[in-house]
Amino acid sequence: MDSNADGSEGLYRLLVESLGDYAVLAMSPGGDIITWNAGAQTVFGYTKAEAVGRPFGLIFTADDVQAGAPATELADAQRGCRTQSERRHLRKDGTTFWASYTVSPMYGAAGTLIGFATIVADTSESFRAREALRESEERLRLLIESIPEYAIFSLATDGSITTWNSAAHRTLGYAEHEILGKHFAELFSPDDVANGVPSIVLQKATALGAVDEERWFVRKDGTRFLGSEKISRLKTGSKSAASGFVHIAQDITARNEFADELRRRASIDALTELPNRSTFLDHVNRAIAAMKRRASSLFAVLFIDLDHFKEINDTFGHTVADRLLEITARRLERCARTEDIVARIGGDEFAILLNSISDIRDAEGAAQRIGAEMRKSMPVDGRSVRATVSIGIALGSPHYDRPEDVLRDADTAMYVAKGAGRGRSMVFVPQGGTATGSDGEIESDLRHAVDRNELRVFYQPVLRLSDSSVAGFEALVRWEHPTRGLLGPQDFVPKAEESDLICAIDHWVLRNACRALAGWREHFPAAELSINVNFSSKEFSRPDLLAELQHVLAATGLPAGALHLEITESAIMEQSDRTSTVLGAIRDLGIQLQIDDFGIGYSSLATLGRTPAHALKIDRSFVESMESRTGKVLVHSITHLAHNLGLVAIAEGIETDEQLAGLLAMRCEFGQGFLFAAPLEGGAAEAFLRAHAPGVA
Ligand code: C2E
Ligand code: MG
Ligand code: MG
Repeated sequence: MDSNADGSEGLYRLLVESLGDYAVLAMSPGGDIITWNAGAQTVFGYTKAEAVGRPFGLIFTADDVQAGAPATELADAQRGCRTQSERRHLRKDGTTFWASYTVSPMYGAAGTLIGFATIVADTSESFRAREALRESEERLRLLIESIPEYAIFSLATDGSITTWNSAAHRTLGYAEHEILGKHFAELFSPDDVANGVPSIVLQKATALGAVDEERWFVRKDGTRFLGSEKISRLKTGSKSAASGFVHIAQDITARNEFADELRRRASIDALTELPNRSTFLDHVNRAIAAMKRRASSLFAVLFIDLDHFKEINDTFGHTVADRLLEITARRLERCARTEDIVARIGGDEFAILLNSISDIRDAEGAAQRIGAEMRKSMPVDGRSVRATVSIGIALGSPHYDRPEDVLRDADTAMYVAKGAGRGRSMVFVPQGGTATGSDGEIESDLRHAVDRNELRVFYQPVLRLSDSSVAGFEALVRWEHPTRGLLGPQDFVPKAEESDLICAIDHWVLRNACRALAGWREHFPAAELSINVNFSSKEFSRPDLLAELQHVLAATGLPAGALHLEITESAIMEQSDRTSTVLGAIRDLGIQLQIDDFGIGYSSLATLGRTPAHALKIDRSFVESMESRTGKVLVHSITHLAHNLGLVAIAEGIETDEQLAGLLAMRCEFGQGFLFAAPLEGGAAEAFLRAHAPGVA
């Protein structure tokens, strides 16, 4: 290969030798290696002496030789073709590597083939990089394909579609080959296209880097769906201009339907399908606003509570109770006009907003209709169930600020109605501004204290003064208020007495105290313990009082004589004919009546003499005054009076040994006070019993 004998040959040689990373070799027309540069030695590991004269198949892998690759390439080159390939090549040490490879024919001055030039470059590095890129692209593609709910495609800067995943095919209906190269405006509605929306969207994505919107998409078949659209600008390399966009679309029709369903469920009661409490309050709010604008648009809220629902639930079970609620809902709807809103606002509580009424009589009329409708028996599961309702009415007023207040007043009226005997309705009459503020809050909290199990009973031992043995306990109520801590009766009993809630409290205490006593009597039978329960004067207007007392005795198995009811002196003095009848009936049941706080009220001896009481409790203030002579004389006279009337005397608030000694001298039979024990929680009361009950070792 020395046809070129001019001086430039040395230069060429130098040049070729200096390409250290490239193997440059020449071959004879027959394929034998005739030159081998330093780069070839580096790349393949053979020295020039080892390589020259060998066939160029030397640098091919056994597989390629077997497949005839060297022969084919030689034949191609002999035909004058320049071949280029990338394949694995073999080193002297047997290892292989990726290399790019070019074979070009070499012609002499006369145009005759004098051999071939071959340049081989090790491309392992770049091959690995390209391979990694390919793999990561493949991974990305798989990732994109594996997100079935997102139509993902890419756009060129002009908005033409450049890639298209299978979810895009499914969502939009176009196969990849149908849409590639088309403008993404194809996917917009004709209106959007007419308004230039596609280019606006792209401008926005270019300017902001990303777009996140909801929009109607049009499928290939012309149908539409509401989709979320996210577009991100793509930048490649260091160029700051966008090189295109990634577009992600999702059909959110289903999601929106789901959200609608959630919204619907949040506003209605699932069982009765009536509006729920919050929806109801919205309506009341609107009614208040209307009335503030125009005082003539009068409204009223009826609060309707099923009587004895809990018993029905306990007796017949949930299914029947649920059915009952459904029937009630339908009946209430029947009693309402189209402009009224009937709602279920709690377990067995319903409410009706009566819109545009002319005066309170309309509301009372509605309550009467409901009462009558509800008195009809209900066929439930082949049974005939009867459930009366108690209804409270609050009349709308522009002075209301919050819908909750209207509902609360109707609720309060309902409690009053229940207190007056179930199956009635009652109108809420606002009194001296107590409708709002913290009193109002106490009251509304208190109404739920029973339901939420926040009441507690404390027990103060009552002792036989002669031998200091325990005769029984006085049950004293406490309220474990969720935010204000443990409250004593002075904090809530007066309020409860105003609104008739007191009856609910008294009965709760009655039931719990009787249950506790029954347990203690079982453990300490010899002690023949009794329980004192405080009763408000309100109790005596309840028609179901006697039934309730009998029920409690039967349920706990207590003998009637073990139950003592404490009634304040003032309640005894105010007594109506009805009260004295009820008191007589209670005594006839065998339950003992005790006159509480005796001495601080104004007593008529005649009334006192007629009262079927069993004991008289000397108010603490007298016991306290016993240090003085007059005080002692007073207590003595009261004890004497009790004995003369055939009553036993019980001293309250005994705090010192002197007081005890004085009371013993007057033959006062019983006493209670801090000297013996403060009111105790159930467990502590039991421990006290263990130490002091007669007949306990
Ligand atoms: P009460 O019936 O005269 O109860 C006696 C009160 O005197 C209790 O107050 C008791 O803790 C307190 N006391 C007892 N021994 C002593 C003592 O040695 N020294 C002093 N300073 N006080 C003593 P409490 O528990 O605050 O009850 C206050 C009132 O609340 C009761 O007076 C009763 O009228 C009423 N009450 C308590 N529980 C109920 C209930 O369940 N229903 C009704 N309607 N009223 C209740
Ligand atoms: Mg008492
Ligand atoms: Mg008392």
